[in-house]
Amino acid sequence: MAESGLMEDLYREIILDHYRQPRNRGAVIEPTCSADGANPLCGDQIRVDVALVDGVVEAISFSGQGCSISQASASMMTEYVKGRTAAAALQGVQAFQQMMLTGQAPEIEGFDDIASLVGVAKFPARVKCASLAWKTLAQALAEGGGTVTTDDGSR
Ligand code: ZN
Repeated sequence: MAESGLMEDLYREIILDHYRQPRNRGAVIEPTCSADGANPLCGDQIRVDVALVDGVVEAISFSGQGCSISQASASMMTEYVKGRTAAAALQGVQAFQQMMLTGQAPEIEGFDDIASLVGVAKFPARVKCASLAWKTLAQALAEGGGTVTTDDGSR
């Protein structure tokens, strides 16, 4: 299918763009909650800092290191949740995890770039890479303060 080949090229470009120019990476903010996450299978590590003000993600920053998928996904995640309520951010986490399960991009607003990761669903080992930032965000929001560590290698 030529169509899907073109889409794959486009998606690859979007992922590389976020990897090379990550949004909100190392941004200096005053976080109200944070979490660390790791994907030992690949060596991906991430820290997510969130400034939650009146239930809205006023600012978000990530740091860490890892493969292009994990870093690009983190960049896309921060862009998506910035300015949204914590509840909407968590809906994004659910939508992302659903996309990884089904291999179908969800029809929700703001997921344009994120949909470029839909192909990752075909590669179970990389799903953990793509999901890491989203799970870590959920941890940060769930705690609402303090630092927790997620270790996705235990399953
Ligand atoms: Zn990875």
